[in-house]
Amino acid sequence: MKTQIEPFKIKTIEHINITTAEEREKYIKEAYYNPFSLRSDKITIDLLTDSGTTAMSSKQWAALLDGDEAYAGSISYYKFEDAIRNITGFKHIIPTHQGRAAEKVLFSAIANKNSIIPNNTHFDTTRGNIEFVGATALDLPTEEGTKPEVIADFKGNMDLNSLEDTIKKYGTERIPVVMLTITNNSGGGQPVSMENIRETSKICKKYGIPFFFDCCRFAENAYFIKLREKGYADKSVIDICREMFQYVDGATMSAKKDGMANSGGFIATNIDDVAEVCKTNLIVMEGFVTYGGLTRRDLEALAIGFNEVVDENYLRYRINQSTDLAKQLTDNGVPLVLPAGAHALYIDAKRFAPHIKPEHFPGQSIAVDIYKVGGIRTCEIGSIMFGRYENGKYVAPQMELVRLAIPRRVYTKSHLDYVAEAVIEVYNNREKLCPMKITYQAKFLRHFTCKCDYL
Ligand SMILES: *Cc1c(COP(=O)(O)O)cnc(C)c1O
Repeated sequence: MKTQIEPFKIKTIEHINITTAEEREKYIKEAYYNPFSLRSDKITIDLLTDSGTTAMSSKQWAALLDGDEAYAGSISYYKFEDAIRNITGFKHIIPTHQGRAAEKVLFSAIANKNSIIPNNTHFDTTRGNIEFVGATALDLPTEEGTKPEVIADFKGNMDLNSLEDTIKKYGTERIPVVMLTITNNSGGGQPVSMENIRETSKICKKYGIPFFFDCCRFAENAYFIKLREKGYADKSVIDICREMFQYVDGATMSAKKDGMANSGGFIATNIDDVAEVCKTNLIVMEGFVTYGGLTRRDLEALAIGFNEVVDENYLRYRINQSTDLAKQLTDNGVPLVLPAGAHALYIDAKRFAPHIKPEHFPGQSIAVDIYKVGGIRTCEIGSIMFGRYENGKYVAPQMELVRLAIPRRVYTKSHLDYVAEAVIEVYNNREKLCPMKITYQAKFLRHFTCKCDYL
C-alpha cells in the first residue's frame, strides 16, 4: 500500500477551537501581535513547540495508575532505568524533571569559569547553563550546516577540524566534556551521521576528553541514519541507537521530546565519579536519586514512552509527516530550510518576505498572518528573538525563520493539509505582509513577552 497512515487510532478526543477570521483578527490584536501571548483556547492548531506536547498512548495513561509513589526505591524508577539502559547501555541513570535540569546538574558538577564546552550547536538552555557557571559554550557546526539553501543528508554534524583545533588551542584540561546534540535542534533539526559520531568519539578518546550527547531526539536521529547513511538500511532502529550510544560516555536528555511524555529528563553516564557528583547535586537541586523532581507515575509513562519511540512504524509516520508537509509547501514555492528535520519545519522569512527589512520583523509578520488565516500558532526565530542594536546600529541574526514544530502523535494528515493550505495562502498574498515594530520589551528573552504592532 502506498497510502501512509497514522500508526494509531483515536480512543479519546480533545476538542479544538474553530474560530472565525474576525475573531482571530481581534485575538491576535489583543495579544499585541505576539503568538506567545495568545490563550491556547484561541488556537486551532498549535505548532509552537514539540516539547512536552506529545499525546500519550493508552498504555502510558494506564501505567500512571501503577505509579509507585515511594519516595526512595520506587519500582517505577527501576522500570524507567531499565527502559533507558536497554537503549543506551549506560551504567548510571539519573532522572530530572526536564532537560535543562539535567544540564544544570551536570555542568555544576564538571564545569567552572575556565571551562570551554564545544558542541555542534548548543541549544539555548544548554548554553545558558554553561554560561551560568561562568564557562564558555562553543558552537562548531559544519559550513553546510549553516546554509539554509544547501541540501545535504547530515547538516547537524560537528566540524571535526574545528573540534581538534579547539582542543589544541585551549588544552585538554580546560575542556571537561565535548557535547553533540542529536538531532541538532538549533541547527534546524538536522541529523548527525554515525560516521560523525564515531569520528568525534575518536578525537575525544585521543585527547582523553569525556564525550556526551544532548540526546533529546535520539530516535529521530537514528531513523535518519537508517534512511540516509550507507550500511544502515537493514539495521533496526534500536540497534542503530545502541551503536550511537556506544561511542559516548554519557548523555543529557529532555524526555519531553523523544521520551514521548509531557515532562521528564535524565543525565546518564558510565563515568563513576561524574555520576557521584551529579547524584549529590541532584538531591540539592531536584530530588532524591530515584525520582529527580518527577512524580513516580511520570517515570512509568516514560518507561513505556522509551519503548514506543523506537517503533519503526511510529518513526516512519513521524518523518513522513514532516517531509509531506515540507513537500506541499515547497511545491507551492514556500521557501524552507531544507531538507526538513523530523520535529519541525523552518520557513525562510528573508526569501518569503524580502520587502520587509530584518529590523521590521519579517518572521513575526508571517507568524501573525498564519494565525490570522488558519488559527495556527508558530514561532518566530529571527530578529524578534535575537536582534539587537549596537551603538545605534541594528545587528540582525544570520537567519530570519518561522518554526512550525510538530507535536508527536497529536495531529493527523488532514490537520497538516490544513496547515499547508494556510501557509500557502499567506505566501500567495506575501506582498501584503506589513513591517512591524516592538512597542514593549523585557530586558532578557524579549520574544516571550514583547508587544508588537504594525509600523
Ligand atoms: C528542549 C531541549 C533542551 C532543554 O530541555 P527542556 O526539557 O526544555 O528543559 C535541551 N537541548 C535540546 C536539544 C532541546 O531540544
